[in-house]
Amino acid sequence: MADARVRRIGLLGGMSWQSSALYYSLINELVAERLGGVHSADLVMVSVDFATIERLQSAGEWRQAGELLAREAQALEAAGAEAIVLCTNTMHLVAPAIEAAVSIPLLHLGDVTALAVRAAGLDRVGMLGTRFTMQQPFMRERIASHGLEVFVPDDDDQAVVHRVIYDELVLGMVSEASREAYLAIIERLVARGAQGIVLGCTEIELLVEQQHVAVPLFPTTRLHAEAAVDWALAR
Ligand code: GLU
Repeated sequence: MADARVRRIGLLGGMSWQSSALYYSLINELVAERLGGVHSADLVMVSVDFATIERLQSAGEWRQAGELLAREAQALEAAGAEAIVLCTNTMHLVAPAIEAAVSIPLLHLGDVTALAVRAAGLDRVGMLGTRFTMQQPFMRERIASHGLEVFVPDDDDQAVVHRVIYDELVLGMVSEASREAYLAIIERLVARGAQGIVLGCTEIELLVEQQHVAVPLFPTTRLHAEAAVDWALAR
């Protein structure tokens, strides 16, 4: 039986598996760091076929996508998960459908990110993500609801950011040319007044790291993993 002090995390992943693998490693590393010895995380995971999700996204079938993820969240709850960690920014678009389907909390990535930005003492950030995350309000407004200003690249730059995510990063491809393109886009956001940059897609931190950028970065996979472990180990 699991250590009674530790709560079971439910990872809803596969979007894409490249970042879900990072969630899994980070969560286990953080639990081992904090509890020592051979401790590891108590978690259950559902990993969906990203091809299905991507097809629903590009067709704008958000209701169907929400129903699918709501069913998977119920499977996590049935497996003993005590909270849902939805391992993608984009699919937080359907967070309300997931939350309505289960009786356990969803650790919302927008809140986690906003708290990290505030803890860093910043109030104006740029955000990169998929076209859905940059153009629709669900993540930007959730972060902004914590008293922050959030803005996104112009249309041309958004197209580049989105293309690199779907054509490269979800396939595990990390290219120097794409990193340079992202860094130029980040510089333009900084020139517009961004004090920090939210990496609002869980694969971007595979490409861009803090060492590449002068302003603080907010890597959402790491922040979400840390929040999940804080929650799991909270006394
Ligand atoms: N993982 C990405 C995100 O955080 C994109 C893949 C997806 O569309 O779910 O938004």
